[in-house]
Formats: sequence, C-alpha cells, structure tokens
Amino acid sequence: MATKIITIDGPAGSGKTTVSKALAKRLDWIYVDTGALYRGVAYEVTRTGTDYNDDNALESLLATLALELVNEAGALRLLSSGRDITDLIRTPEISMLASAVSAKPRVRAALLDMQRSIATKTDAVFEGRDMGTVVFPGADYKFFLSADLATRAMRRHSEGSGQSLCEVEKDIAKRDKNDSEREQAPLKAADDAVLIDSTDLTVEEVVGRILQEIG
Ligand code: C5P
Repeated sequence: MATKIITIDGPAGSGKTTVSKALAKRLDWIYVDTGALYRGVAYEVTRTGTDYNDDNALESLLATLALELVNEAGALRLLSSGRDITDLIRTPEISMLASAVSAKPRVRAALLDMQRSIATKTDAVFEGRDMGTVVFPGADYKFFLSADLATRAMRRHSEGSGQSLCEVEKDIAKRDKNDSEREQAPLKAADDAVLIDSTDLTVEEVVGRILQEIG
C-alpha cells in the first residue's frame, strides 16, 4: 500500500516545525524536518572548511556525506556519519549558511533521493521549502504557511538564539529573499497547496484547519 504524504512549506518562523510535529503526533505519522538536512550540509561545510563555491570541493564533500534523520522518543535527531549533530545546527551562522548552500543544485540533488526514500517507508509530514513543488509534487495534501515578518521574527527570537530581535528579523528577511529568488526549487506555494496565514492563529488552530482540510 502506498504511503501517505502531507507537505508543509513556508518561510522561516511561519510555524512549520511546531505545526508539523503536532500534526504528525495527532495522526501517529512521522514528521521530517528537511531544513535540518540543509543545516547538516552547512555544518559539514564549516567543519571541513570546504569552499562550497568550488564545485570540485563541494562534490568531494557530498560524496562522503552521510546524513541520517532518526526518531528518538518522538524527537528527531540528525546524525552525520553516525555523530549526533542535532544541537549544533541551530546557530544563526548555520541558518545563513544553510540558505546559501541550499541554492547549489548539487546539494539539492544529493538530498532529493534521501527525502523521497524516507517517504517510501512510512506515512509522513514533510516540512521545508520545496516539498509540495519539487520533492513531492504528487503529495496527498499540501499546505503553505505564512505569517508577517515581525511575527515570524518574534517567534524565532523567543527561541533564544542570542541575537537581538532586530538581528533576527534582518536574518530572516535575507533568508526569505535568498530562498525565494534562487533558481533551484525556490520557496513558493504549490498551485494546489492550501494557504494558511498563521499570523493571528495558535498552533492548535493551524493544526485544526489542516485536520479539517484532510478530513
Ligand atoms: O527550515 P529551516 O529554517 O531549518 O531551513 C534552513 C534553510 O534550509 C532554509 O533557509 C532554506 O534555505 C533551506 N531549505 C531548503 N529546502 C528545504 C528546507 C530548507 O532550501 N526543503
């Protein structure tokens, strides 16, 4: 029997992760944070000192890259060659670098099969930027979350990255621009995605709307 897929795309701070986790829990499906994979690549670029603008150097890094998402007691952990790097990929530097490396076609190609192969095994909620448009164009249900910039910045700031609210807002705006304007798999809603503006909604309200849509 084919597995079921729900895609949730949207910009940083739109509530994708919180909503995807809560939704997956309600449905008893797994949730897959694809941003963590791009963050994993960025982390390895930094750790190995790779010049990601040098095609050969990037190719060598990708050839040895072994990222794995594992579910541990309901929480998602990211392993790189068996080492747990979950707690090392949420810094502001890695956020910006993930946005830069994710524009590279080779990086996107390397992660594409990994994402699709997870989907063959189990019903899942996938969150990211291009889930509904590129990775799973045939997904069972597609959603695109948005929220105004100030709200998204406040949400991220409350997670406590050590940056001021103003810095968080500037970084998010820059990432939005990078992610939406890149040639490869830009951040955008699929034509058949349901759009939800979460600016004035609680997590429960967003999850409620999604559950209503999928019946
Ligand atoms: O979702 P998160 O903020 O963790 O994603 C980090 C970065 O990874 C994004 O800014 C984006 O550039 C990239 N990304 C992507 N495609 C995805 C998920 C994330 O390009 N499906």
